[in-house]
Amino acid sequence: MPFPYFARLSRARQRIYLASDAVTALPLPDAAALAPAVRELERALAEESRRAAERAGQELVDGLCRQLALPPAAVRVLASRPSGDSGELHGLYEPEPPPARITVWMRTAARGNVVAFRTFLRTLLHELLHHHDYEGLQLAETFHTEGFFKREADLARQLFLAAGLPPAARSPREPPSR
Ligand SMILES: [Zn+2]
Repeated sequence: MPFPYFARLSRARQRIYLASDAVTALPLPDAAALAPAVRELERALAEESRRAAERAGQELVDGLCRQLALPPAAVRVLASRPSGDSGELHGLYEPEPPPARITVWMRTAARGNVVAFRTFLRTLLHELLHHHDYEGLQLAETFHTEGFFKREADLARQLFLAAGLPPAARSPREPPSR
């Protein structure tokens, strides 16, 4: 069952939605090769180092782009999440100009705490999946579909497993980003 907003989309956009919804997994050719970057990211957040988190995040995204045959995307880690009318922004994907850019925030806006490692990683993967929608699946638009969230969970599971971390008990709240 598509999400309720499906009914409000034009026929053309519904076709894009359904193409996205149909892909539920994203097998990595070599998840183990990405494990060091995942562990580095965990360490960077534990040390509350924005620069180290950005470096590790970029390394991870570079590796994911290589393995998924996507053009590169630039990763930016900023200090504090902005908060707006639509609630706190977790991450942001901007397809243009090349290279595409992924922005993730290091601290929550509300309390200024460092974002939990799993949430941070899920957000990074979430934004990378928007990149994959455009560049991998060649979709004209990127939607939050059930298939999209399954791919996000699938990718996270492979990376947690490869890095020797227990898989997440539950998914974080859907980031209100595009
Ligand atoms: Zn999104």
